[in-house]
Amino acid sequence: MEQHFQARIVHLEDRVPGLAPDFIARTMRGTIGLFPPRLSPENVAGKVNAIIDDSRWIVRCPNPACAGALLAPRDTPFFCCVDCGSPENNHQWYEVVYPKEKAAIEKLLLARPYNVTLPNGQVAGRGWTLGQTAKALLLENAEIGIEA
Ligand SMILES: [Zn+2]
Repeated sequence: MEQHFQARIVHLEDRVPGLAPDFIARTMRGTIGLFPPRLSPENVAGKVNAIIDDSRWIVRCPNPACAGALLAPRDTPFFCCVDCGSPENNHQWYEVVYPKEKAAIEKLLLARPYNVTLPNGQVAGRGWTLGQTAKALLLENAEIGIEA
């Protein structure tokens, strides 16, 4: 099996250095109308959780009518969907919330080869969902012989 290693779980800024969520929003505003608004404290309401999908921190759009998702920003942790403009949040920006165990989760996932198969046949990729603890990832790693 081909193994792929990388140095980090990717955030928006890793993919395109210097790119900020508000830049994306301003770029897309011409496409989808007046929204999202400029990122400023009066345009922030609510929170949305970041998850890890395939070695990337992402935010899935909370709008049930939208299938959008964006890389999650590390330095400016706010999200407003560039696909739908987040009408479910009155077109406001969400604060992006990362788990308290973020550093431990990243370290445990990066210790794995890419998409390793556990003894039970389940694929333990570099993904993390809300509620999954660092301890659970540690136990999965131990199952495949990784002591990290
Ligand atoms: Zn959306």
